Amino acid sequence: MTRTGRAAVYDAPNTPFVIRRYPVRDAGPDEVLVRITMSTICRSDIHSYQGHRANPCPGILGHEIVGVIDQLGANITHDMRGDPLAAGDRVTWTMFFQHGPSHYRDIHDMPQKSPGLRKYGHDLVADDPHFLGGFADYCYILPGTGILKLPDAITDAEAAPLNCGVATMISVAQAAGIGIGDTVVVQGLGLLGLYGCAIAKARGARRVIGLDAVAGRLDLAARFGADLTFDIGATSTDELIAAVRAACPPDGADVAIEVCGYPDAVPAGIAMLRTGGRYVIAGLVNPGSAFTLDGNDILRRWITLKGVHNYHPRHLIQALDFVIGNRERFPFAEMVDSTFPLDRIDEAFTRAADRSVLRAAIVP
Ligand SMILES: [Zn+2]
Repeated sequence: MTRTGRAAVYDAPNTPFVIRRYPVRDAGPDEVLVRITMSTICRSDIHSYQGHRANPCPGILGHEIVGVIDQLGANITHDMRGDPLAAGDRVTWTMFFQHGPSHYRDIHDMPQKSPGLRKYGHDLVADDPHFLGGFADYCYILPGTGILKLPDAITDAEAAPLNCGVATMISVAQAAGIGIGDTVVVQGLGLLGLYGCAIAKARGARRVIGLDAVAGRLDLAARFGADLTFDIGATSTDELIAAVRAACPPDGADVAIEVCGYPDAVPAGIAMLRTGGRYVIAGLVNPGSAFTLDGNDILRRWITLKGVHNYHPRHLIQALDFVIGNRERFPFAEMVDSTFPLDRIDEAFTRAADRSVLRAAIVP
């Protein structure tokens, strides 16, 4: 008898999810079949669900996935860092995969920008192998994916955001060159910003300053390494810039990171930097995120401006090591503050969308 599994299918934006069953076939020699134990709802899943960005439907959303290996393809013996893999091992994996030639991968060390890159949670559910998203009983890991075995010490809740938020912020912190003694401003204290505060601190930042308008997030940021927080709703932009600069003597912050998604934050953040400061944009994921800068100011103050999108597979390995190494110092497990069974996914999306939870998890 053919095995089947459930999937919460996204038929069209802003319509209720429908639980449907699909056949579960054997894993091919270069594939892994995983039984999902937890998937968290990312802000990008909500953008897709609300129709802010095109995503194939009917499909299965979700890319922040943790699961247990059900079937291991004959050609897959080890994970990305060389640990042997076997059925029953708990794993996570890069949220993207890519087949075929890639100039960006081979020449520029940017596999995450390869042509034809595909992401989990972005395929039609009708197509084989059906299960390529997180909100389901199973997921297939296809060739070209970086697989990472999870040690027993890390919980599913700590592990689920690794392959999206944590790995992305590892990539951002490296692009920003955060080092020992730096002063770092984090604009936006959602999941990315909280990990950003913690990673900056772990890299030796002298002072981390968190900015947001939500009181609860300012409190949380203090537990994730922010030395100082400012409520951006309580002051004018000019006052905020002056206050942040005063907190980063003698002449402003070494680094500022945008993870809030508001274009106007960029000129404000750049104004907080010292001469020679570095700025990274990581939250302006939607087209039309325009802002105005004075090029002369960038030139005179030697400002470095970078964009970061996605991450290199090695950043997923580093994300795991960062969480393992700092799980006593920062309350990562509290990031995932609510769990829902698969058949209550509508409620989970509603709660995640209205931000009444920080990270909602689906436990099928
Ligand atoms: Zn994500």
